[in-house]
Amino acid sequence: MTEFTKTLCPYCGVGCGLEVSPPAQPNKATNRDSKGNPIWRVRGNKAHPSSQGMVCVKGATIAESLDKNRLHYPMVRDSLDQEFRRVSWDEAFDLITKQIQTVRCTQGAEALCVYGSGQFQTEDYYIAQKLFKGCLGTNNFDANSRLCMSSAVAGYIQSFGSDGPPCCYEDLELTDCAFLIGTNTAECHPIVFNRLEKYHRKNRKVKMIVVDPRRTPTAEAADLHLAIRPGTDIDLLNGIAHLLMHWGYIDPLFIDDCTSNFPAYAEVIRHYSPEVVARQCEISIEDLETAARYWGESQRVLSLWSMGVNQSSEGTAKVRTIINLHLMTGQVGKPGAGPFSLTGQPNAMGGREAGGLAHLLPGYRVVTNPQHRAEIEDFWGLERGQISPNPGLTAWDMITGLETGDVGLLWIAATNPAVSMPDLERTKKALLRSPFTIYQDAYYPTETSAYAHVLLPAAQWGEKTGVMTNSERMVTLCQAFRQPPREAKADWEIFAEVGRRLGFTKEFAFANSAEVYAEFVQLTSDRPCNMTGISHELLQSQGATQWPCPEESSTSATLSDQKAGGETKRLYTDLRFPTSDGRARFGAYYSKGLAEPPDPNYPFVLTTGRLYGHWHTQTRTGRIEKIRSMHPEPFIEIHSRDAANLGIIDNQLVQVRSRRGNANFPAKVTKAIAPGTVFVPMHWGALWAKDAEANTLTHPESCPDSLQPELKACAVQLIPVSVE
Ligand code: SF4
Repeated sequence: MTEFTKTLCPYCGVGCGLEVSPPAQPNKATNRDSKGNPIWRVRGNKAHPSSQGMVCVKGATIAESLDKNRLHYPMVRDSLDQEFRRVSWDEAFDLITKQIQTVRCTQGAEALCVYGSGQFQTEDYYIAQKLFKGCLGTNNFDANSRLCMSSAVAGYIQSFGSDGPPCCYEDLELTDCAFLIGTNTAECHPIVFNRLEKYHRKNRKVKMIVVDPRRTPTAEAADLHLAIRPGTDIDLLNGIAHLLMHWGYIDPLFIDDCTSNFPAYAEVIRHYSPEVVARQCEISIEDLETAARYWGESQRVLSLWSMGVNQSSEGTAKVRTIINLHLMTGQVGKPGAGPFSLTGQPNAMGGREAGGLAHLLPGYRVVTNPQHRAEIEDFWGLERGQISPNPGLTAWDMITGLETGDVGLLWIAATNPAVSMPDLERTKKALLRSPFTIYQDAYYPTETSAYAHVLLPAAQWGEKTGVMTNSERMVTLCQAFRQPPREAKADWEIFAEVGRRLGFTKEFAFANSAEVYAEFVQLTSDRPCNMTGISHELLQSQGATQWPCPEESSTSATLSDQKAGGETKRLYTDLRFPTSDGRARFGAYYSKGLAEPPDPNYPFVLTTGRLYGHWHTQTRTGRIEKIRSMHPEPFIEIHSRDAANLGIIDNQLVQVRSRRGNANFPAKVTKAIAPGTVFVPMHWGALWAKDAEANTLTHPESCPDSLQPELKACAVQLIPVSVE
């Protein structure tokens, strides 16, 4: 009988369970890729509660990327104009530890930076935190999750007193009204959408509202599509709240017993009359009223959002304004209802748990809290005061730190900032100035490897065993099913070895990733993300498990919707919140709009996004034939009216100019986008399409609370390139 190894899809935050087996007949040509490598067989794991056996095209084809363009050996060079030369791990480790010591002595620990990834397993995150935030004393560890969901983190903390999505995927099939804002779920979180869409199709009374300037496949399935002007989300949300209040669809008992700050919020929404909101959002009053009626008449409303909300200079305010609607209608802590952020990366949630952003510490702690620092210092056996009280540099701060010379060593792992950062020309110039860049990745070349002094080969999906947490707090053991190629090592092993060579032998004396995880979960004890009941062993024997999952003796789970076995489906079912007074807080926000609104010189709003098949910067999916043929090249979507005004025809090359740079894309003339707005997918970097990099155009203006850049919108002009 064929042996299947249970693991998780390493692409998006839906977190689908996979089963992998060796090629049936490894010697048959049909079971090998073009280079003759055997292709592993992948299928959905029917027993995985999140995905129930379903997979999208990315998950189904993932194994084809395993042996393509792998980085096999450590390599170094003295300057960026030289070729890399192969070295042993010993030499690479010696060079890195020497460089860390030198920078620490000459510039201080604050000049050391790590830019990590939601592709990390929780063990990778944890060891990197312990090394940099603990042993080396700098909080300069940030991850690409900063570009993805840090606004959701800040919003949850400010509204509920703690991070953590309160809902679960089962709610997709229990709701009366799904409110999707800033998320093209059908393409970006396909299996979540499959579950919702199937249920919606079968239950005609269930309503689906989609808010998006584009008529995406998600919007196609909706009962109501609100194609708002980009940057008017808060106007819309406050406008819905205004009508709910006016029509009496609020829950005064919930507001009185479970929340604070309602009067300030009520004062704000008073100003958002339907006339004002319809004008601002460029939608009809009838559509606004229909949205409010769907909300008000539903017993259970579930809001879903993603990058369209988070990647904004007012991202935290948007998240809190969504949560406000749930608080005013009592739509939280019950089946089928609640605010539910969808994470982009497969283990962005695990990063949050392990402290993988520059302001966090393991166990949903923050570096600015003296008690939190003391708890971690005691646990790690550090001197009091060894953990810095200052939040570290965020992703964009590291770029500006390279410009000023404040960053002396940059260690990039499992991410590709030379494609994914905003203001790409500026980013690349900054990377060129880096005195010492370590790039640790499974693949080579990538756009970022061109800026490295040291390349470290990392083991990837299927080559290391560790844990990932998906958007519904479901923790899954990702089991290795093959050896890493040549000299590649797990990320946590690389960080741990550097730690030992820096003298922290006792701190990094782990024999395997199960031991790392066992140490980490102790730091979640009595924390909102309590995982003390979870271990590699439990996940292997019982399958994926949702947190909070305290040991049976713990009492904290009684506050939540706990299942047999200790795991928890929903948070806040007891209507108490982890704030100082136990109440959830309303946030009162007026809309500020886009950081860079259109003007006569740059009259269009560019919005960027993702396509069904590709994953982020194509490091994997660009090497999979089926996906490449689905999405062979980038493009720009332009409304037919705008195209006619500019004399642009379908497929014509268009130069797109922003204040930061230019890029060229063939036009896709369509009515599926609001006039005045254009769309470009963000997947193409310099390796795949010269002069067609979306982030050449975007800007780094960030939300003041989450420090997440507004990658979703900037002002551009369009110049048709003449057809000969
Ligand atoms: Fe993977 Fe996301 Fe597709 Fe599931 S929905 S198979 S996690 S890419």
